[in-house]
Amino acid sequence: MLGLMQNRQLLISTVLEHAAHYNHDCEVVTKAVEGGIHRTSYGEIAKRAAKIAHALTKMDIKIGDCVSSLAWNTYRHLELYLAVPSMGAILNTVNPRLFPEQLTYIINHSDAKILFLDLTFVPQIEALYDQFSQVKQFIIMTDAAHMPKTTLPNVLCYEDMIAEEPDHFDWPELDENSAAGLCYTSGTTGEPKGVLYSHRSNILHSYSICCKDNIGLCGNDVVMPVVPMFHVNAWGTPYAAAMAGSKLVLPGADMTGENFYNLIKNEGCTVTLGVPTIWLALLQYVGTLGEVDLSTLPIERFVIGGSAAAPSLIENLEKTFGASVLHAWGMTETSPLGTVNRPLRKYGNFSEKEKMAIKVKQGRPQFGVELKIVDDDGNELPRDGKAFGRLMIRGPWVANAYFKQPDLNILDKEGYFDTGDVSTLDQDGYMTIVDRSKDVIKSGGEWISSIDLENVATGQPDVAEAAVIGIAHPKWQERPLLIIVPKDGKSPTKEDILNYLDGKIAKWWTPDDVVFIDKMPHTATGKTQKRDLREMFKDFKFKS
Ligand code: AMP
Repeated sequence: MLGLMQNRQLLISTVLEHAAHYNHDCEVVTKAVEGGIHRTSYGEIAKRAAKIAHALTKMDIKIGDCVSSLAWNTYRHLELYLAVPSMGAILNTVNPRLFPEQLTYIINHSDAKILFLDLTFVPQIEALYDQFSQVKQFIIMTDAAHMPKTTLPNVLCYEDMIAEEPDHFDWPELDENSAAGLCYTSGTTGEPKGVLYSHRSNILHSYSICCKDNIGLCGNDVVMPVVPMFHVNAWGTPYAAAMAGSKLVLPGADMTGENFYNLIKNEGCTVTLGVPTIWLALLQYVGTLGEVDLSTLPIERFVIGGSAAAPSLIENLEKTFGASVLHAWGMTETSPLGTVNRPLRKYGNFSEKEKMAIKVKQGRPQFGVELKIVDDDGNELPRDGKAFGRLMIRGPWVANAYFKQPDLNILDKEGYFDTGDVSTLDQDGYMTIVDRSKDVIKSGGEWISSIDLENVATGQPDVAEAAVIGIAHPKWQERPLLIIVPKDGKSPTKEDILNYLDGKIAKWWTPDDVVFIDKMPHTATGKTQKRDLREMFKDFKFKS
């Protein structure tokens, strides 16, 4: 017997309409790409989303068509986030930091018919557009006064395009399983792979974000996603914020510590999200301000994910701002949030040291997400906090397959997706990433976690960034090489670093050498680019 409840579909258009009706005067603040601070509201954004839908309909965009964006976190990008899926089309958010070949591959593979782009990216696209197979219209996300001279064909100005359109649209009643968004994995090996989110997966993921043991977005929050809207939907915050009625603060193209600080201070941000390098930039900037008490700022939560949050970073942020760090883990294939680290009630009396040992873990799965760890034969391993194996995940916002790769089975027989991460799970469900499976250092049949070593090394006071890679070793197969970027004006020695590690790590984990470089290579999503480090040190040999 079926239940007798209404089967309303979970659609992005319902988020848009909810925000328009119930959060209409809630502010959306952007550090505009053209300069200055721009202020609008969900009510205005909903009207402009309707205008966009009319304009796109005139351009023959239909249900199931793809529209790409190459854009920063701005109110215009938010309008596309709401308009494009609500009209039944698919928004493909492209990461502008990718190599030109990957960017072209993605735009062609997605079958995008229209490309929206911010002013910043016009020169980049002028150099590439003739390789785009299907894009028939370029829309520059600015107003007439800022339109650049460009060699792009078929160009429209965003504001001109929507100016005369009606501000109401009859959003179609779609199936909630319809495609809504398309993001490509960073593709460190092979071509980028497309992850096709549905309306349902996005809505359930957003609901989860609003739960208190997750990021807990609510109407009282002022949220600033620094994580880009071109990287896994800014971790779902645009939809969750519109759903919850949180004030949204968008940092635009200005990825400086100074901009993040000014927005936190001037807009009263209570929660902000980003990868570790972003917070290093913020801390570096506030370090230049001298003796100011930042603990009086309203910021409550720093959400850190994308790479491991080192204890020194967690401690520094918490002390400097009097805020909590929520360590989170996820990936493009998981929408992205899989786990978030919130302390359990029973840890209340723990010492600071014991609490830190919990905080560095990547967190517990939110309801809806299931995790297990398995060995190389797929056998499940114990949840004892010690055994480590391949991390597997399933849930309603986890990918089932990659876009246009129907024959590639990415699930095990129980429907779990192999994350490519190696991790432990403890009795309480806290997951700890030991490494990416390809980054773990295999030394004499045992594994050394590059993440653990990096976490400890970044605590050395003269170290800005640390990375560990495995170097071939005649006896042990691989041994760790520690690569350090010193803080500005500091020049630690190998002995300084090794003395610091002494007693903090198992003896046999001690790196066989320490080298210093000026700048850490980063991926398009701000993580340490280990592939480049391996290339840089491919001829490196340990002195015997
Ligand atoms: P992406 O799909 O580009 O978002 O990358 C996902 C990968 O980033 C994961 O599979 C992990 O290897 C890594 N990652 C994400 N969050 C964390 C975290 N908190 N700690 C360590 N690694 C992380």
